[in-house]
Amino acid sequence: MKKDSLVKKIFMECPLCDKIHEIEERKRIATTIIKGEVVDYEENYYFCQYSDEDENEFTVGRMEDRNLLNARNEYRRCHGLLTSDEIIEIRESYGLSQADFARLLGWGEATISRYESKAIQDDAYDNMLRIVKNDPLKAFELFQKNSDKFNNVKKVEIRERIIANLDMYGREYLKRQALESEYISFKGLSDANGNQELNIDKVESIIGYFAKRVNNLYKVKLMKMLWYSDALNYKFTGKSMTGLVYLHDAMGALPIGHYRIVDLENVNVEEEEGYEYTKYRFVPKENDDLSCLSAEDLEILDKVASKFKNFSAKDIVSYMHEERAYKETVDGEVIPYSLAGEIRTI
Ligand SMILES: [Zn+2]
Repeated sequence: MKKDSLVKKIFMECPLCDKIHEIEERKRIATTIIKGEVVDYEENYYFCQYSDEDENEFTVGRMEDRNLLNARNEYRRCHGLLTSDEIIEIRESYGLSQADFARLLGWGEATISRYESKAIQDDAYDNMLRIVKNDPLKAFELFQKNSDKFNNVKKVEIRERIIANLDMYGREYLKRQALESEYISFKGLSDANGNQELNIDKVESIIGYFAKRVNNLYKVKLMKMLWYSDALNYKFTGKSMTGLVYLHDAMGALPIGHYRIVDLENVNVEEEEGYEYTKYRFVPKENDDLSCLSAEDLEILDKVASKFKNFSAKDIVSYMHEERAYKETVDGEVIPYSLAGEIRTI
């Protein structure tokens, strides 16, 4: 066992002498039994040099708690469990109170409070805490599952905190999933997606590419330009470029999930308050990743960009209204690529 060492000297009321005098705070390695196992841990205590040999040590409540915590944390370390400090750290990373964090995890309200102060968590609880520590998306899933445990104000608050806690990858993943989920019924190759599964990397890269080449690129025009790129690619290769599925809309072709596309993490968009509605202006990014676009893709995108760069939104809508693909479909209907491939030459 390690020898005692001095932590500091303080003046305090000594309960052994009933006088105020200098006391030494010391520490040493002590031994205790936890769950039937011998555990060595660091123990702090006060030492009175005026008292007789048999009774010259004492502790106070807070020190006692700390010693117990040290012993339990030592047990946790030996068993690969999170320590109470690590549990506090995880909870605080989400900015949650002990009770709210417990609710989020679907546990009893007092559970986290006990784990942070005295009780030792079992393996299942420990695993759950580690999952939430490493994966904020998992925390988001749990929040959705247990959201009925919070009132509406709390719900908004906690949702925002978790979202804020998601790192770049997490946010991106969520937004991609939101778009993917709109395409679940279009899995597999078909005339609706132009024999191509949705490729979100390409959608993002194409938008960045157009934003660099077209000034004042707003949403209506961009959506048409995406359609023309896909249609042209289909015409040349029998496959669409992005796998986007377009619906017949009053303003021309509109891809399913267009709100999700605007919201993608790698799409640079500025919102402008218009007279009646918000306008979305697509702006170039500093570092464009074009690695997923082939030379053939870029050739088609250049064609589409030079054809339409000086078109107003109204011009491109009117232009599209003359396409067979538009004339032979009705409002809300999927525009099949077999028709899209018959576009006029660009
Ligand atoms: Zn004393």
